[in-house]
Amino acid sequence: MQRLGVAGWPVAHSRSPAMHNAALAALGLADWHYQLLPLPPDVLEETVRRLPELGFVGINVTIPHKEAALALATSATDAARAIGAANTLTFGAGGTIHADNTDAPGFLAALERSPAGRSTLVLGAGGSARAVVWALLQAGAAEVRVWNRTPGRAAALAAELGARHDAEPQPADLIVNCTSVGLAGERLDALPITDLLGTASTVADLVYREGGTALLAAAAARGCETVDGIEILVRQGALSLAAWTGRDAPLDVMRAAAK
Ligand code: NAP
Repeated sequence: MQRLGVAGWPVAHSRSPAMHNAALAALGLADWHYQLLPLPPDVLEETVRRLPELGFVGINVTIPHKEAALALATSATDAARAIGAANTLTFGAGGTIHADNTDAPGFLAALERSPAGRSTLVLGAGGSARAVVWALLQAGAAEVRVWNRTPGRAAALAAELGARHDAEPQPADLIVNCTSVGLAGERLDALPITDLLGTASTVADLVYREGGTALLAAAAARGCETVDGIEILVRQGALSLAAWTGRDAPLDVMRAAAK
């Protein structure tokens, strides 16, 4: 049995096992299985180091382990190092652990139009905002502005990655929500951007929930192109799966299973 999984705390809500197991079945990889790995932070490192003995080829890591995953790896991609977090670990011979961050390219892959040359606004300054800001800069966005509820975090993130911090959100052609607002069905006015939606041609929301988010409903009502968090989840998962199996991931199968 070749094993894969997602380590998080909590992680019971994750759609990754359904998404990856459907993909593995569609690829005919009958001896592969993807499972939940609920790991509190104090046992993350010792458990991850033992996983190869148990047949694990690699794992995804999610909240709150992405920074710790990068720290425990023996090698890492430039993207993971620049972002300061890893969401994909691959186990090699002799106890080696390679870290990658597929959140950034997964986000770019989910966009129907490239951000190159476009003005962009990122809401949030947590782990996913770091990956998205880095991705937008790499992809050649004309401007990457960052707004966050706690301004000091946005200012620090912007300074470190080479973006611009705004105390008040400014109009942009592409707006990306990287806050957790929407997860619990919060009203749209939890984010101070209602007036800006009319200025954007695309709104992306990393948050996903049953029935969709209020942000994307409001954006669609204003005629914006929308990108939902499920598509971003699918794209990052597809890149991880391809790295572990060496096979192209079946996106439609993953999309259907994640939904
Ligand atoms: P995180 O590191 O915990 O950051 C949370 C961010 O949300 C911070 O900027 C925080 O602002 C902000 N925030 C929380 N409550 C808020 C409120 N009531 N009003 C305004 N801002 C608020 O989380 P993360 O890892 O970046 O993830 C953020 C969201 O993206 C989560 O919902 C996660 O599930 C989702 N996500 C989805 C994918 C995907 O594949 N679709 C991937 C990664 C993450 P402060 O700094 O002021 O606290």
